[in-house]
Amino acid sequence: MNKTHVTLLEIDSKAVIHNFNYFKSKLIPATKFLGVVKAFAYGNEAVAIAEILENEGVDYLAVAFIDEGIALREAGITKPILILHPQKETLHHLLPYQLEPNLYSFRVLHQFMDEVKKANLQHYPIHIKFNTGLNRLGFKSTDVDEVISILKDQQEVYLTSIFSHLVASEDLNERAFTQNQIDAFNEISKKITDKLQINPIRHLTNTSGVINYPDAHLDMVRVGIGLYGFGNDAAETSKLKNVGTLKSTISQIHTINPGESIGYNRAFISSEMVKSATIPIGHADGIHRNLGNKVGYVTINNQQAFILGNVCMDMIMVDVTHINCKEGDEVFIFKNQENVEDLATRSGTISYEMITGISQRIPRVLK
Ligand SMILES: *Cc1c(COP(=O)(O)O)cnc(C)c1O
Repeated sequence: MNKTHVTLLEIDSKAVIHNFNYFKSKLIPATKFLGVVKAFAYGNEAVAIAEILENEGVDYLAVAFIDEGIALREAGITKPILILHPQKETLHHLLPYQLEPNLYSFRVLHQFMDEVKKANLQHYPIHIKFNTGLNRLGFKSTDVDEVISILKDQQEVYLTSIFSHLVASEDLNERAFTQNQIDAFNEISKKITDKLQINPIRHLTNTSGVINYPDAHLDMVRVGIGLYGFGNDAAETSKLKNVGTLKSTISQIHTINPGESIGYNRAFISSEMVKSATIPIGHADGIHRNLGNKVGYVTINNQQAFILGNVCMDMIMVDVTHINCKEGDEVFIFKNQENVEDLATRSGTISYEMITGISQRIPRVLK
């Protein structure tokens, strides 16, 4: 498929390295770096990105689900891998791959300790998440004593890290709320350190937390979107390099006479002579249908070509009336962060959804 598909997502490995080093430079040397490569490294390419980060000396990797971790191990990734959201029913699959679970409830904690016991293993590394306000996954602060009593005097698991996740680290209007989360987490950490007499890695901040809350870097930071070129505002983003370039070619050009229509449901009806170009990428590839009808655009010959009519599953038709181009010419869906942010805004979403939404049908090419 790689060789026959002309629509490609090019991955710039040097940009990943630049972004990694940019965030490293914000940390004191003792602070560890966890690279988040869930969801195919935010739509880029999980194995390729994990290999780059491993070579650059990342301390930890994280994915959301167990199968994502297994894919990394099968590709030869050796760094510790934190599974952020394992499910009780499939926890035993972690063991043969040395994948380290986030255990976020008594239900999964007990189940995992049973699995380890059954497998005759000892001191298996685990991570415990506390819910300090996101109300998504994690133990409550009132659970701490019980967690401590479970982990005391047992041999099955070793508490490698404790963590929590910030609700609104990018939003400085929520500074007071965030500070409460930081304080609550520090209190939980202190209790665990005092009562268990161990020093698990403490981690709290995602990309925008690293940028906005230097006092909360603690022992490790968890950077996702920043590695792929997006900071929490235009100023931070401008210091990062763009990683993914989504490009294609013009399949066919049509001349449309006044009164003729383009695409399904005749959503575009021409009032003048129009030249349209058909591009082999559609809503099945992550081009949101909201981008149709001149909301979204691609770039051809450095000019914006707006989408005419509805986005099809495998194609879009764009307006090239005033663009000097021919069949076979190169088309950029996005080639920089501004393109991504702009298309995201125009389709009513955010950069995270835009880049993770590029379908697996499109080959990823490392350059
Ligand atoms: C996805 C995720 C991150 C990374 O967040 P970014 O904003 O992309 O840096 C960090 N921590 C947890 C728990 C996550 O789920």
